[in-house]
Amino acid sequence: MSKMNKLIEPYRITDGRKFRLKDFDPADTGNFKSKEKAEELLERGVARLSELQEKLYAQDQWGVLLIFQAMDAAGKDGTIAHVMSGINPQGCDVHSFKSPSAEDLDHDYLWRTNRHTPERGRIGIFNRSYYEEVLVVRVHPEFLHKQKMPPQLIDKNIWQHRFEDINAFERYLSRNGILILKFFLHVSKDAQRKRFLDRLDDPAKQWKFSGADVEERKFWDDYQDAYEDMISSTSTEHAPWFVVPADHKWFTRTIVAEAIIDALESLDLHFPKVDAAKKKELAKIRSAFA
Ligand code: ATP
Ligand code: MG
Repeated sequence: MSKMNKLIEPYRITDGRKFRLKDFDPADTGNFKSKEKAEELLERGVARLSELQEKLYAQDQWGVLLIFQAMDAAGKDGTIAHVMSGINPQGCDVHSFKSPSAEDLDHDYLWRTNRHTPERGRIGIFNRSYYEEVLVVRVHPEFLHKQKMPPQLIDKNIWQHRFEDINAFERYLSRNGILILKFFLHVSKDAQRKRFLDRLDDPAKQWKFSGADVEERKFWDDYQDAYEDMISSTSTEHAPWFVVPADHKWFTRTIVAEAIIDALESLDLHFPKVDAAKKKELAKIRSAFA
């Protein structure tokens, strides 16, 4: 096993049967003795990602879907910005999924995300996703009742059914050559409190502060239960969850970058081969090109 694999292995869940969120420490920093060492690795990782993305694009076979879920202030936006900072913007799309629109609610719940799955050769990022359907919607069942579903289809099995349908959808994507990686940025309640205070005090961050986020904090335990059930029910070989410690942003970013690199390296990406006829043509043009 590669050195990289060892770094991310403790956080990768491919079989959720024994998964317990309490076994994961949001303040974990692995074996890193200092922030600087992790940041050096991240810097190299960003460069490596850029090379891999070029090949992904040129080869035009695989698509990559990265899903980010987390409590507020866990660092989704900053992680996406840092990890993807070396990537050619033409090869990457980010979609944020907020409260569903009236048009969204007139469709099945996978509809709005379905339209944004990545093209072959590209990296698609979901900042929140259809997983909100088993998180916020589960914590606040009133959202479920706004979804215009026939009432007889809403029963106690609904979450189990959603897990099954999500697993089937992800298996379908993976069988089509869409590589799926899912990141849960696992922040502690105390670190979230500190980040909210920071947003209140720092003029550069005040725009980020939302009273609604403080309201959601009251449902902390319900969310943790929903996350635990979600991860234990939707972790698979073809679409693993990474439970990424998120109390130290430098560690979060390093783990996410390494997880993406590790997965892309397993794809054996390469530039398309130039055949003999094309080589001959190139040689001919080259010789005429003084
Ligand atoms: P920011 O970092 O800017 O706060 P954000 O992702 O938290 O980013 P917001 O606009 O603050 O964006 O929040 C989006 C809200 O939409 C979240 O509270 C989320 O739970 C909610 N949401 C997303 N999908 C659904 C859904 N399917 N049903 C109901 N609510 C949803
Ligand atoms: Mg928010």
